[in-house]
Amino acid sequence: MPPNDPALRSFIAVAPDSDFPIQNLPYGIFSTDADPHRRACVAIGDFVLDLEVIEATGLTRPAGETDTVFNEDGLNAYMALGPAVWKSTRARVSELLRADTPILRDDAALRKLALVPRAQARMHMPFAVLAFTDFFSSKQHAGNAGKIIRGNESTLAPNWLSMPIGYNSRASTVVVSGTEIRRPLGQRKPRNVEQPLFGPCANLDCELEMGVVLGGRSHMGDMIAEADAERMIFGFTLLNDWSARDIQAWEYQPLGPFLAKAFATTISPWIVPAEALEPFRVEGPAQDPAPFPYLRQSPKRNYDIALDILLKTKSMSEYARVSQTNFKYMYWSSVQQLMHHGCTGCAMNVGDLLGSGTISGDTRGELGSLLEMSWGGSNPLELPNGEKRTFLEDGDSLMFRGHAQGEGYRIGFGEAEGSILPAHAPPK
Ligand code: CA
Repeated sequence: MPPNDPALRSFIAVAPDSDFPIQNLPYGIFSTDADPHRRACVAIGDFVLDLEVIEATGLTRPAGETDTVFNEDGLNAYMALGPAVWKSTRARVSELLRADTPILRDDAALRKLALVPRAQARMHMPFAVLAFTDFFSSKQHAGNAGKIIRGNESTLAPNWLSMPIGYNSRASTVVVSGTEIRRPLGQRKPRNVEQPLFGPCANLDCELEMGVVLGGRSHMGDMIAEADAERMIFGFTLLNDWSARDIQAWEYQPLGPFLAKAFATTISPWIVPAEALEPFRVEGPAQDPAPFPYLRQSPKRNYDIALDILLKTKSMSEYARVSQTNFKYMYWSSVQQLMHHGCTGCAMNVGDLLGSGTISGDTRGELGSLLEMSWGGSNPLELPNGEKRTFLEDGDSLMFRGHAQGEGYRIGFGEAEGSILPAHAPPK
């Protein structure tokens, strides 16, 4: 049976609402107290399968391949092996975890070595991020941001419907879920003051995005065709592009976002293979005007992935959901973003990360940033305990979750979580 078959079952019990059924098998990098070196795994139910152990047995290695890749502290070497190896490895791991495959199921010694309770697995950055490009591809988000920042008359920028707008962000501050986020210092100029100030960001925000992880490369000078773009995409992860709105407002002209977006980006520890999302492809919104030929794509390039933003303040005991949206709303697909990225001959590499851009839907409950939820700070969000928020305060925690719903199982992405630490004192 193919790895995406909804009828597949593992010998490991997996609850129907678990993020990690046998149809998912997302990749991560973990360590344990007992064995602190970092190595690769896949998640299955409440366990992780240690791929270094499995690789050492020879059970996953492609025929003729002697190099090991799963004993490294990032997935980059594995990603670089390309889609044929991703496919055969995933099929082999799926087979090993199936209820009717005895190899691992009936080998207590191997099971003890290879299966680690997920509660004991410390998750790390799943890959070394070589470069990080952030897009702006939700029409609803771009329209809302335009209305909030520039007033009601102008919404989309004149170039927005011609191409996926993006900018080169920072790879150095992409961090794994659970990393605390220090409120940034920076320059800002509130409307009511004459001179800019230097100090803590006052309008700290999140951006709900999906991250695309590249496992292929393109060469400088070459464009990226649709089929090449598809082959280059290793998988998807949740991404929170933390944003300092007041710093952004003062610095962004004329060259676009810079430090307001460069202090932290949080991703989930799990990279869901693109192959696991195949059953959840859907048609994106109609594109009018028709894209240039270099951006034309075949049908069903979007994915139906339900996404949640949850917020917990210092005085709340549990998270409250503040937004519920969907990746399928994106106007420009990930494949179009990649084709656009290559159109001038910009080279792409294994380990590059593309942020989709903030994902917002049409209604008030489907917004991907606090900028939109509070409408620029003018309409505070009310939390279940009566507290209000426009932007994030020190001690607030945010969590993103996401899943594609199959029949009787879900392909989940884990969590992208982070809490806000107070800013450092600015130099006097
Ligand atoms: Ca962003």
